[in-house]
Amino acid sequence: MKLKDKVAIVTGAGSGIGRAIALEFVKEGAWVLVSDVDHSGGEETVKMIRGQGKETSFFPADVSQAEEVQKMVSAAVERYKKLDILVNNAAINTMGDSQMITEEVWDKTIAVNLTGTFLCSKYAIAEMKNSGGGVIVNIASVEGLSGFSNQLAYSASKGGVINVTKCLAIDHARDNIRVNSICPADIETPMFTGYVDLEGLEPIKKHMLMQHAMRRFGKPEEVARVAVFLASEDSSYITGTNLIVDGGWMCGKNLDPAEILGWK
Ligand code: NAP
Repeated sequence: MKLKDKVAIVTGAGSGIGRAIALEFVKEGAWVLVSDVDHSGGEETVKMIRGQGKETSFFPADVSQAEEVQKMVSAAVERYKKLDILVNNAAINTMGDSQMITEEVWDKTIAVNLTGTFLCSKYAIAEMKNSGGGVIVNIASVEGLSGFSNQLAYSASKGGVINVTKCLAIDHARDNIRVNSICPADIETPMFTGYVDLEGLEPIKKHMLMQHAMRRFGKPEEVARVAVFLASEDSSYITGTNLIVDGGWMCGKNLDPAEILGWK
């Protein structure tokens, strides 16, 4: 058990990658406070964890609201007496270029994805310092590493998360707090299928798959295992880094002319 008796908060744990991380952490022996704005999703995750025979609880919080974040962190500490791990996973995906998106969409995307990461880290770090250290894992995106069409606000927010990770790592290494991020590419979750409904769109799906060297989309559990690694002592000398979990999406130009022409 890599996280035995560690206390973790996972934001956005009512769905997709956050839920998979919460479940994986519990399997590794952690106590997890499940948090999300989505009450029914959060309660469902709690039910799944209790189904594994482990106690947990749901704390609803909007990560963009400082007061709610403070209450979430206090709730974890009150219940479990300390805080060892924070996973900043909650996010929204918005589409549009500079001419399409409104200022409201821009503000909301930055507020949830970037300010949310800052706020949760700020209040979690204060608690971690009290108890001798901790670990933060930020879920960024490959879209934070590269430009991406029609994803201006999302891509900007995730680029920000990657640099927040590095700054926090530098500022708090001597508080015994490690901070790292994960950059997934296309992972099969409600966020991904909500953004691209590929039902009946085989040519588009084929094109998207061709951008991954491994020619498949990822599963939430494949990100969750990496989060366990970064949250555990297995990564004890790693801080300020960014781990890409993308089936080879970023490693080069994956389009294969022979495949496009149908030769293989
Ligand atoms: P998801 O299935 O949509 O789950 C995200 C969860 O966060 C949802 O339950 C959502 O609730 C919640 N949430 C949204 N706004 C929130 C807020 N203000 N405060 C608290 N919770 C909030 O998405 P996912 O695919 O698992 O994504 C998880 C993380 O991975 C995100 O950071 C995402 O950017 C990143 N990521 C995903 C992919 C991918 O392909 N799936 C790729 C790269 C990076 P609602 O459903 O009510 O909005």
